[in-house]
Amino acid sequence: MRTIGVLTSGGDAPGMNAAIRAVVRGGILQGLNVVGIGHGYQGLVEGEIIPLEMRSVSGHLHRGGTLLATARSADFMTEQGFARALATLQDNGIDGLAVIGGDGSYRGALELAKAGIHVVGLPGTIDNDIPGTEYTIGFDTAVNTCVELSDKLRDTAQSHERCSVIEVMGRHCGNIALAAGLACGATAILVPEITVDFEQDVLARIDETRSTGKRHFILIVSEGVFGEGFPFKDSAEIAGAVTERLGIPARTTVLGHVQRGGNPSARDRIIAAEMGYLAAELLSRKGTPRAVCYQDGRVCDRDLAQALAMPKPFDFEQYRMAMAVSG
Ligand code: ATP
Repeated sequence: MRTIGVLTSGGDAPGMNAAIRAVVRGGILQGLNVVGIGHGYQGLVEGEIIPLEMRSVSGHLHRGGTLLATARSADFMTEQGFARALATLQDNGIDGLAVIGGDGSYRGALELAKAGIHVVGLPGTIDNDIPGTEYTIGFDTAVNTCVELSDKLRDTAQSHERCSVIEVMGRHCGNIALAAGLACGATAILVPEITVDFEQDVLARIDETRSTGKRHFILIVSEGVFGEGFPFKDSAEIAGAVTERLGIPARTTVLGHVQRGGNPSARDRIIAAEMGYLAAELLSRKGTPRAVCYQDGRVCDRDLAQALAMPKPFDFEQYRMAMAVSG
């Protein structure tokens, strides 16, 4: 009987457990032996093999995090560490691997493919920033968390007639900020993909809506905006500028890692299950490295290297619409 492995790598994302469950059960139904690898590629380097069967993945579908644990592994990127990872696979008779993670994890999988391992990448990251797929496991839950918390902050901003500056995750992309900002009617959404004129795009917008009677304001800020060319070093400075320039009391909330946790939404569970099941099927067929993707409302697959080389465009159209309807 052939053996395949499954691991989670990089940042965790709600829905990873649903994907693991589907890989395991889908693989067993395909007649494969399925093992887990703990702590991502580091577990491969250290030989952390977890035997799995149908019941091992019970009771995790609704839980955030990953039952296999995840990690970032510098060792795996060294010649010696990579050789140890390969030895783990060979020693355990594992010839196929499902890698659930971000684009860095995909690059690691491609290296394994060059060494003859059949790999399939599943997009698992809250940022929805993986090329070749319109959706990544965890995005919906993270956005819902941001919206739920922003709604609570709105209540207090409204009572005190304040501006609430809410910083959300997204080191290099503003997808979470855009979706959350649109869903909670933010007066301004700051994302790394769009150069912000703070005077025009933030202060003037707040002032304009104030002149129509609005007394509380939500600003959604992606953590990725801070850096070269941006006039402030953190969200607290943005709040300070709003107060100083407009006389509006402002408070900052950095949502942080709470966005990575929590029970996965139904959407994340469903898409993760479909992706995991397809990954098991692809691994049973062997073949070239594949990436499981989401396109036009369906789960599909494409060549892994080609997927990584595809553009991942920001939705400027949706951004313009979000700004048009907020006010
Ligand atoms: P997230 O979106 O949460 O950051 P990610 O998968 O992009 O997830 P990374 O830290 O970039 O997270 O990558 C995870 C792991 O994949 C790394 O710690 C490393 O072990 C491996 N990896 C990344 N890039 C490469 C590469 N070019 N070659 C081999 N391995 C890699």
